[in-house]
Amino acid sequence: MTVIWKPQLDENAAKWQALAESLGRERFAPLAGDLDRDQRYPWETIEALVAHKFTGLFLPQQYGGEGQSLLTTVAAVETIGSHCASTAAIMCAYQLGAFPILLAGTPTQKDFYLREMTQGRATSFALSERIAGSDAGAIEASAVREGEGWRIRGEKYWIGNGGASRYYVVFAKTDPAAGGRGISAFMVDKEQPGVVIDELCDKMGIRGTQTSNLKVDLVVSDSARIGDVNRALRLALQTLNVGRIMVSAQSLGLALGAYREASRRAVARQTFGHPIIENQGIGFRLADMATEISAARMMLYEAARVYDCGGDVSSLGAMAKLFTSEVAHRAADNAVQIWGGMGYCKPNVVERLYRDQRILEIYEGSSEIQRLVLARAVRKEVEDQAP
Ligand SMILES: Cc1cc2nc3c(=O)[nH]c(=O)nc-3n(C[C@H](O)[C@H](O)[C@H](O)COP(=O)(O)OP(=O)(O)OC[C@H]3O[C@@H](n4cnc5c(N)ncnc54)[C@H](O)[C@@H]3O)c2cc1C
Repeated sequence: MTVIWKPQLDENAAKWQALAESLGRERFAPLAGDLDRDQRYPWETIEALVAHKFTGLFLPQQYGGEGQSLLTTVAAVETIGSHCASTAAIMCAYQLGAFPILLAGTPTQKDFYLREMTQGRATSFALSERIAGSDAGAIEASAVREGEGWRIRGEKYWIGNGGASRYYVVFAKTDPAAGGRGISAFMVDKEQPGVVIDELCDKMGIRGTQTSNLKVDLVVSDSARIGDVNRALRLALQTLNVGRIMVSAQSLGLALGAYREASRRAVARQTFGHPIIENQGIGFRLADMATEISAARMMLYEAARVYDCGGDVSSLGAMAKLFTSEVAHRAADNAVQIWGGMGYCKPNVVERLYRDQRILEIYEGSSEIQRLVLARAVRKEVEDQAP
């Protein structure tokens, strides 16, 4: 029995989760502090993820993947994330790059890029620019017809796994006058002439991940296009619908890690002759943490289950991302408080978690953008019901 609610996993999902737990505890957790201190990308972690088939976990078997459900994938990311937030973020970046290909790629594109991903040659999702994050329709990168192909020009920014990934789904305007309805997506290989990555972000947290720019000025053939011309913003939003469930899993993992550190400390640490958990100010904090982490976990697993059944997760995924990321924020904050001065100083795990969690409320749609999505859904529901 655990205090925090546990999902009932079938035998298969439980097998993957157990493997994630042993890798997370034995291989990734011991590295986490050094990666954070040195801001180093963990190629040895990628090797382990490839060797144990986690880079292809969700990908169809016909393209070399393991063909597992989103629920199983969520269980793996959450479990690994409870030991190393950066590794969970890398797994999410892999998924985010795979989705446009899964949703709109041709069989040839899927066969090539998804197989590459299973071997650790990932694809990154390159939508954001310095001037366009939340407002993705405002991107300025352009793609214009040149001969049989397309000349793509522009600079993308904040690319998760940037520089470490071999391939990039680059979103560019093909009809600037049409705004968000004039965006198309193209596969770019970082080894092609005309592709430059020359800036890595110096980040507050998840410092074992790599986040970069991507400058492009090159011609690609029309066969590099993913999906229909001018329809790629929709493709990006469909991708983010699933990506948000993955970030929710990352958030849940971080919250579980913070809870583990905080609860153990509250029992072990004595002041005035008693464990600090005996003070209601501390014990009630842990009670609230366990309650909201359980609620967040139920929401996350339900979102994954609905996705696996082919249901619409546009609202549920937004809620799961919004709620779990804010629960992770509070869990990390409480963990620092419970650890006191030790929690404020490096190299304490909770000090790292406090910084690692902050991105969860920003990327793949900030908390404000999730609330915007949900407010629009509420309005639509009311208007649709109006007589
Ligand atoms: C580590 C990291 C990894 C990332 N990975 C990727 C990636 O792999 N691929 C990719 O394409 N992008 C990636 N991003 C970019 C990320 O998705 C954006 O930073 C995010 O969407 C926010 O955009 P912005 O930074 O431009 O902030 P802005 O859009 O400028 O927003 C600033 C603030 O204003 C709020 N705001 C904006 N509009 C509204 C509104 N209408 N109503 C209320 N509040 C609003 C926002 O919530 C935010 O608090 C990454 C970013 C980071 C930091």
